[in-house]
Amino acid sequence: MDSVLSLSIGEPERREEDMRLSYIAIEASKYSAVMKAAFVLSPHKVVIEDAAIPVPREREVLVRVEACGICASDIKFFNGLKSYRETSFGKSSPGFTGHEWAGVVVSTGQDVKTIREGDRVVPYIITSCGLCKYCRAGRENLCAEKRYVHGGFAEYIKVPEQNLIRIPENIRVEDACLTEPTACCLHAIEQLDLKSEDTVAIIGDGPMGLLHLQLIRNLRSKVIMIGHHEGRLKMANTLGADLVINSLEIDPYKAVMEATDGYGADAVILAINNRDAMSTALRLVSKGGRINIFAGAHPDYEISISPNKIHYSELTITGSADALRKNYHEALSLMEKGAVKPSAIVTHTFPLEKIGEAIDAVQKRAAIKAVVKP
Ligand SMILES: [Zn+2]
Ligand SMILES: [Zn+2]
Repeated sequence: MDSVLSLSIGEPERREEDMRLSYIAIEASKYSAVMKAAFVLSPHKVVIEDAAIPVPREREVLVRVEACGICASDIKFFNGLKSYRETSFGKSSPGFTGHEWAGVVVSTGQDVKTIREGDRVVPYIITSCGLCKYCRAGRENLCAEKRYVHGGFAEYIKVPEQNLIRIPENIRVEDACLTEPTACCLHAIEQLDLKSEDTVAIIGDGPMGLLHLQLIRNLRSKVIMIGHHEGRLKMANTLGADLVINSLEIDPYKAVMEATDGYGADAVILAINNRDAMSTALRLVSKGGRINIFAGAHPDYEISISPNKIHYSELTITGSADALRKNYHEALSLMEKGAVKPSAIVTHTFPLEKIGEAIDAVQKRAAIKAVVKP
């Protein structure tokens, strides 16, 4: 594939045509520089088809994707529950929403200065206006113009140079591809101002809950994991949770109060989000406690909340969406030091051709974290 690729990029007279064709699915017979890519044609319908390999322009970089994790947001998109302005269903979005990827640079546009062929990279997935109040404060995740670098469920992806971060040498691709979710957890955790004597309750035993668990254990705070999936709770035990609560068997409120001498949890992370989880969080947080609403709610809902509870108990309720650029670097540095190992939650790996099975395994909860290797 690589030799075909360099041939096509090296031909200047074909360059414009390449650009026009990039990101458009075409038949293999009509074009030589093609790749396999996953397309979601309509909700619930994913196919693998040929697509033109994108051509990097001035400050763009072409990356050979080595691994791409399946995120809950990919599943929501697949099911038609969430849409992205820059990604729509159909033939114009090879690799659709895949953003948890890692890969190797295969070619660079003429003005690229910081990234070289052969570099191992992960994406910083946000592009933003760079000018608004939030962007100026380094909070690009709040920019009204926020878009994502999508398309990791494909053999190749084209990325702006400024959206690439080099992977330290000793990090395996299986860990590196989970830099983005790890960064998102770090962004949530930094809002909770955790101390080592704190007890943190994580509601939701999915991959993000389990990633939070690893990161919080690294801070030496105690972790109570609340969920109701046997396999995931078992993994929470393996990853060092101080207490694991199966909410189908034990009332989480009672169990948390018992474990904290009746105080409740100093911090609560909502790694799933629904009315039940939210009201549980409000019940089991201690006075002076913090709640982070990490997971988005799809569909959204409203709750009634007593202002007096927030007032008299001095509660702090925060939210976190995506991650800041610095969180990506923190995530990689923790992996480099061996302090966290995101791949510990990966239970299934699939080749790109089997992405349908991968999505199925995640949807049916057979997989905790599934990674696709294009
Ligand atoms: Zn993600
Ligand atoms: Zn902005």
